[in-house]
Amino acid sequence: MIDTKAYAAFNAKSPLGPFAFQRREPGDHDVLIKIHYCGVCHSDLHQVRNEWAGSTYPMVPGHEIVGKVHRVGPKVTKFAIGDAVGVGCMVDSCRTCPSCSKGLEQYCDGHISFTYNGTEPDKKTVTHGGYSTQIVVDENYVLRVSNKEPLDQVAPLLCAGITTYSPLRHWGVTKGHRVGVLGLGGLGHMAVKIAVALGAEVTLMSSSPSKKADALRLGAHEFLLTSDSHALATSQSRFDVIVDSVSAPHDLVTYASMLRLDGVMVLLGVPDKPSVLPAFPLIMRRRSIAGSLIGGIPETQEMLDFCASHGIAADVETIPITAIDGAYERMLRGDVRYRFVIDAASLD
Ligand code: NAP
Ligand code: ZN
Ligand code: ZN
Repeated sequence: MIDTKAYAAFNAKSPLGPFAFQRREPGDHDVLIKIHYCGVCHSDLHQVRNEWAGSTYPMVPGHEIVGKVHRVGPKVTKFAIGDAVGVGCMVDSCRTCPSCSKGLEQYCDGHISFTYNGTEPDKKTVTHGGYSTQIVVDENYVLRVSNKEPLDQVAPLLCAGITTYSPLRHWGVTKGHRVGVLGLGGLGHMAVKIAVALGAEVTLMSSSPSKKADALRLGAHEFLLTSDSHALATSQSRFDVIVDSVSAPHDLVTYASMLRLDGVMVLLGVPDKPSVLPAFPLIMRRRSIAGSLIGGIPETQEMLDFCASHGIAADVETIPITAIDGAYERMLRGDVRYRFVIDAASLD
């Protein structure tokens, strides 16, 4: 067993604190990864505070992991010692159901092993995530990352990147499409960069007037303040796709009404309370409201390669682990510019 240093949540209310535990020795197909950086996703905060119910403690959060391969099991074929690699939200799945067979492991019909706050395929051993010094993962759930961009800026692609890339691709966003991105945080800023790279005309919709300059710098063609009722009223029926990344409860009707005929609004954010959804805004222009969960392993690799070839990485604020609770507080205020990333060296 491998002694591992980490930070964990011990209950839903207290600050995170130091935690020591053991990773398994790498099996035949496992890769031992020395973690260099781990992004801080709003899902970490939701789960640390048990906002989705069912959280178990101690919990080592973190599913935007990048590092270097330190050791490989005897039957590993895809990776060698020293390779730059990433791990996202899943570390295993059933591998045999129709979804897994199509590379859509995130929609596994069997047992899916989320990177933390989940269990290994034995359904008993608790998984611990990337707020730690190292991780052992089956090579089939490990991704190759580019050395072209700094690794701390690559880490957020493992969740924020794939979570926005997948729906933009699934709904066929391409040149000439009008895309609305709701919320400029970790997911939102990746959605802007990726939608722009796909050729879309992008409007960023935010509750924060102070984010206008950043939205335009990130590539958005237009900025719309969500408290500006006039701007909202003049934006009816214009978007092909809206990507909703807001983490707190909010009105959906206003934004659904901004979809044109057959437009789709994709819910990515997971507020802790349900939203009201009347039928009229949907039936009037055959609009849809859909959801999307991260992305499968092949698509995550495709996204990483796409981002590397387009020079896309995250805008990050790198922090030591001791700053994690302050980072969560800023996240709650919508004050993330645009992803906190933990420097794992601060855990040693
Ligand atoms: P984040 O960095 O905190 O960004 C959320 C943004 O929502 C904020 O920056 C803010 O943008 C906006 N917002 C509007 N009203 C808010 C309010 N009352 N309180 C806080 N923020 C408000 O979060 P994230 O990491 O991008 O994650 C966003 C959501 O997606 C979370 O619910 C997360 O759990 C979920 N998520 C889902 C998936 C999936 O697979 N579907 C994957 C990862 C994360 P403005 O200031 O621009 O308004
Ligand atoms: Zn995430
Ligand atoms: Zn499966």
